Amino acid sequence: MIEDDVREDLLHVLMSKEEIQQTVADLAAQIDRDYADKDVLLVGVLKGAVMVMADLSRAIRSHITMDFMAVSSYGSGTKSSGVVRILKDLETDLMGRHVLIVEDIIDSGLTLSWLKTNLESRGPASVEICALLRKPEAMKTEIDVKYVGRDIPNEFVVGYGLDFAEQYRNLEFVGTLAPHVYS
Ligand code: 5GP
Ligand code: MG
Ligand code: MG
Repeated sequence: MIEDDVREDLLHVLMSKEEIQQTVADLAAQIDRDYADKDVLLVGVLKGAVMVMADLSRAIRSHITMDFMAVSSYGSGTKSSGVVRILKDLETDLMGRHVLIVEDIIDSGLTLSWLKTNLESRGPASVEICALLRKPEAMKTEIDVKYVGRDIPNEFVVGYGLDFAEQYRNLEFVGTLAPHVYS
């Protein structure tokens, strides 16, 4: 079982399955309130946001549509390169749409500030951001994140979509990766 195998790779559990569920439900309630009279397009950023997209979209009670984008910024390391590349673009025309970018985590904020500017150039009615987790570094970037699940310390975390070298995405919780795994 993966959860037994990874115990020694993790320092501690940062967010349990139950805490994630509650956090996602709270985010969905806020989104339902704010978009009550609007159709929203959820844009999931692959691959990290797949879990939060799947759970958030089902917790939202309003009509939504979904699309996905894949961008690269990290490679397989743990530090942002600052260079963003589109690996898979949206299929949806954003003209006049209310767009909500769904992200797993904001660290430097470089990826999201690039992505937000990119989507804003496509003529949408609005572009907002929802991130499950946010690290302190993000405060240094001028990026307005409307919905944040939880602010976390500056540690490298895995699970619930978040990977290290493509591993650990299918953990049901979010845990802090032990430095011996990546150093
Ligand atoms: P940023 O550009 O905000 O520094 O980071 C962008 C992306 O890097 C995130 O969407 C996420 O995919 C990845 N990332 C940032 N911090 C972490 C972390 O602590 N753990 C993992 N697994 N990925 C992270
Ligand atoms: Mg991400
Ligand atoms: Mg990654």
